[in-house]
Amino acid sequence: MDVTRRGWDPRAREAGTSDLLRATAEQAIAYRASLGERRVGSRPGLTADELRARLGGPLPDGGEDPATLIERLVADVDDGLVTMGSPRYFGFVIGGSLPAALATDWLVATWDQNVGLFLSTPAASIVEEAAAAWLVDLFGLPVETSVGFTTGATMANFTALAAARHAVLRAAGWDVEEDGLIGAPPVHVVVGERVHASMVIALRLIGFGRRGAGRVAVNGEGAMRAADLRRILAALPPGPTIVAAQAGEVNTGAFDPLDEIADAVRERPGAWLHVDGAFGLWAAASPSLRHLIRGVERADSWGTDAHKWLNVPYDAGMVFVRDAAAHRAAMGVAAAYLPPAPGAERDPFEYVPEMSRRGRGFVVYAALRSLGRDGIQALVESNCAVARRMADRLARSPRAEIVNEVVLNQVLVRFANSDETTREVIRRVQDDGTAWAGGTTWNGRLAMRISVSNWATTPDDGDRAVDAILSILDGIDQGAGAR
Ligand SMILES: *Cc1c(COP(=O)(O)O)cnc(C)c1O
Repeated sequence: MDVTRRGWDPRAREAGTSDLLRATAEQAIAYRASLGERRVGSRPGLTADELRARLGGPLPDGGEDPATLIERLVADVDDGLVTMGSPRYFGFVIGGSLPAALATDWLVATWDQNVGLFLSTPAASIVEEAAAAWLVDLFGLPVETSVGFTTGATMANFTALAAARHAVLRAAGWDVEEDGLIGAPPVHVVVGERVHASMVIALRLIGFGRRGAGRVAVNGEGAMRAADLRRILAALPPGPTIVAAQAGEVNTGAFDPLDEIADAVRERPGAWLHVDGAFGLWAAASPSLRHLIRGVERADSWGTDAHKWLNVPYDAGMVFVRDAAAHRAAMGVAAAYLPPAPGAERDPFEYVPEMSRRGRGFVVYAALRSLGRDGIQALVESNCAVARRMADRLARSPRAEIVNEVVLNQVLVRFANSDETTREVIRRVQDDGTAWAGGTTWNGRLAMRISVSNWATTPDDGDRAVDAILSILDGIDQGAGAR
């Protein structure tokens, strides 16, 4: 093919790039500035086919001018975006973006570093190392803990389980990295009945599956009953064992009793304790919340998210493993073309599933540095205070009932003690656009699920959301409660 005839001219292509980036930055800045006032949900009634008509179709033969393309892309997706960065977005558990984190994320895309190896980009390795040390300190984990920067808590949990699998099988005389799982001694896996769905994915990927896992009974808030864990462990035949506990149940925010769980696990020699603390681990940042994770440092591995409570743009999470050798044994690999890092320097790829990888560590680093210890504490505590305030205001309505203990940033509220009314309130709130909250089924009953995880959320945002919710609830009452 004659590439010249096809107009492949990199210099001409690059020519307008400065203007393109400036114009794009203006688009991004305008979006960012509108976060507080933009409607929170996508446009009610917008259909997938409408979006398909705008965005789909065959791949064009001739390329488009980047500036035109971006302008049209922005226009075409606008009403199909959900303003997840809104201070009144309370869906799932989703943080916004701190200014320093967003700006650094722009640079990360621009620097375009493949951060797998120390040698390929020493700055990225050292930035990860610095952020890792801050996080280990902040969470109060053992100083020898090694850290990997993942896409999120799912991959953090997966990585931790891989390290656990290595360690418990090695202790049983089996080299899982060399010989795989077929023919290996059975590994007993124990989780809580309210284990997060992503942990099920991690168990599946790691080759343990879901059915075989022992399930520990939980209390009404979804926290493991330590006595039941003891019962299950006592009934297991001896052998490799992994227990996965949870700090922060995704609906209620409840914490498994980690100290008691660690006591129980320690009675079984060689057993591994993992803690999924996707958002709950951040309770460590607050002296008034720290009691919720008492004993957390006694575990062997931990997973958490940065795109939830640390408020970095998607995506980022971190895995922590006390036994750095087990961590590296599970994730690292040698290959002739991969030059080992000089001296004791750290190759970031040895701690995560991916080899080539985006420089997420820069963004986490910037978020931590821009907040400082006090800022992280203030962020966590102010979100919890808004959650508390919203729960208190909602509870004053005779037709609303808070169905969880609000110990952290999560509120579950049910309306008119009716699944139907609750479903209708959630639907109308999502259409209304003042705020956004989703639904869940908790102990067999439907509830609205409110998560306060955005650094920018103020008490006033909480009040505006509650006002909207209560006025929608009123409307449903007057509209003849039975329908
Ligand atoms: C969100 C969450 C996860 C999964 O995290 P991702 O960032 O979606 O991968 C795991 N566990 C808990 C408790 C969570 O809240």
